[in-house]
Amino acid sequence: MKRRVAPLLLSVFSFLVLALAQGQTALAQPARAAQAVKLSVDATDAPRKLFRATEIIPARPGPLTLYYPQWIPGEHGPTGPVINFSGLKFTAAGKPLQWRRDAVDMYAFHIEVPQGATSVEVAMEFLAPTYAGGFTSGSSTTSHLAVFSWNWILLYPSVSHTDDIMFDASLRLPAGWRYATGLTTERESRGQIEFAPASLTMLVDSPVLAGEYFRAIPLSASKPTVELDLAADSAAALEASPQFIAAMRKLVEEAKALFGAHHYDHYNFLFTLSDRVAHFGLEHHQSNDSRVAERSLIDETLGRLALGVLPHEYTHSWIGKYRRPAGLATSDFQKPMNDELLWVYEGMTEYYGNVLAARSGIWTADEYRDELASVAASLDHRPGRLWRPLIDTTIAAQLLYNAAGEWSAERRGVDFYDEGWLIWLDADTLIRQLTNGQRSLDDFCRRFYGGQSGSPALKTYTFDDVVATLNEVAPYDWRAFLNQRLYTTDFHAPLGGIERGGWRVAYDDVRSQHIEDLEDGRERVEMGYSLGLRLNTEGLIEDVIRGTPAYESKLGPGMSVVAVDGKAFTPDVLRDALKAAKSRKESMRLLVNNEGTLINYTLDYHGGEQYPHLLRDTSKPDLLSQTIAPLTK
Ligand SMILES: [Zn+2]
Repeated sequence: MKRRVAPLLLSVFSFLVLALAQGQTALAQPARAAQAVKLSVDATDAPRKLFRATEIIPARPGPLTLYYPQWIPGEHGPTGPVINFSGLKFTAAGKPLQWRRDAVDMYAFHIEVPQGATSVEVAMEFLAPTYAGGFTSGSSTTSHLAVFSWNWILLYPSVSHTDDIMFDASLRLPAGWRYATGLTTERESRGQIEFAPASLTMLVDSPVLAGEYFRAIPLSASKPTVELDLAADSAAALEASPQFIAAMRKLVEEAKALFGAHHYDHYNFLFTLSDRVAHFGLEHHQSNDSRVAERSLIDETLGRLALGVLPHEYTHSWIGKYRRPAGLATSDFQKPMNDELLWVYEGMTEYYGNVLAARSGIWTADEYRDELASVAASLDHRPGRLWRPLIDTTIAAQLLYNAAGEWSAERRGVDFYDEGWLIWLDADTLIRQLTNGQRSLDDFCRRFYGGQSGSPALKTYTFDDVVATLNEVAPYDWRAFLNQRLYTTDFHAPLGGIERGGWRVAYDDVRSQHIEDLEDGRERVEMGYSLGLRLNTEGLIEDVIRGTPAYESKLGPGMSVVAVDGKAFTPDVLRDALKAAKSRKESMRLLVNNEGTLINYTLDYHGGEQYPHLLRDTSKPDLLSQTIAPLTK
């Protein structure tokens, strides 16, 4: 165990005093300072969303270009928040330097290092944002906690690889806050945490979760240690149930049994419970940054909606971090990434994240099937499939992550997550069938993602490598199998895995637990399979699906349903109207507010409510249940 969780004892130092103290520390350690970049971050003002840092970068006299990280691993796009990078001042040999941003590359800064200087000192600030989107560029701080990402506030010179440049990083937190990170803590003194030297790659890969309400729960009895670190906006939100903690421990055992090896020295689930930070999960080699609603551990509905992020991000330590598509393993943070193989990186992680959620007990088998039914139905009612093949959702991922929700059935989004679930279920059940149950996609995982246990490592792969390993597990025309699913513009989703697995997607008028949860926990009303629209609980239409009664009646996203059959809109009023329309000839009447204009729409629909479920097909063996059966006792 290499990191510590301890309260910080000393009071807040001013920025000036901090900078002077760091200068003295650097003098005391000339050997390291000559090679490594020294980065000292002051996060004591995190609650008011202001971070400050000083950086000492070894340099030679002459022109120097320094870079602000642009392409952030795991975010799959040019998302570095340079717009919030502020307060930039350079000095060298005791003199202030003028800087100039590159006129074309907004992430590059040019300076001239004067004669006699051996380093450049940078003072800078990060103005932490308040908006909910944008992954780590989104809201990350509250009065009680912060999820700090190092790429927010550093510059680095041109390097052949970010593995080759070492950083001596330190961090000062608000008094009394505890913390966790994938980095190794070397020492803590005078309120400052000094981390062991780390490459720029590992530094950017190791965010720090810190907070006032903090709890660390060990998940593994043996080495390497795995820990669940919680920071929340209230003490009450930290009250994880014994069942959840047991499921998390089982998750670690199940991942070990699945992959047969690990690629971390220690692992930290950095789990943020807050309604005031952006919600997402981001994978790292030795940690994950997962952020969910504050009450996710103490409210069953919110828990069912949120906790699946943990197995997904943990799975990424193998699928995505250790093994990575060559086009996503760039040598620095300025080179564009090629997202084309995200259907493996994210698609197989979505599959195994969900499988491990079920194998570990984070989800019940019913919850797994409910969510699978929802995903399958949604992808099977997506007219955007007719123009955009799945492969284009990966190639264009850097655009689609930021796409608006409206017209999403028409545009398609980052569908390679959900459709990856269907495709890899298809492959898993096919391998089980081809080998009479002797092998499964689990065998692919052990071969492809297992290898030698040890510290974080990276081994890149190509499409051909995936096909070759699938063929080792079960000979088949996997190239054609995958290409067909990646390039098709067929209307229907690949539901072969569900069907071969002994189940089918069926629709009736009973809402599944998952669809009820979406309404209660996320304020979404699912009418996609009946009227052909999706709304929020206030009546705002978020999407309309081409070819459905809602589309034919000219409804569109952004309109608000004000009344249904003369009665003020609520989700129940809409559902009651669907029931009533089943046994009458007259159309439904919707009064809609479109940008301030009130308009009546009629919907000639009499099919009642329709919600998806998975139903067992007893003519086939239940391979689906085999895929989610635990590997450990
Ligand atoms: Zn992911």
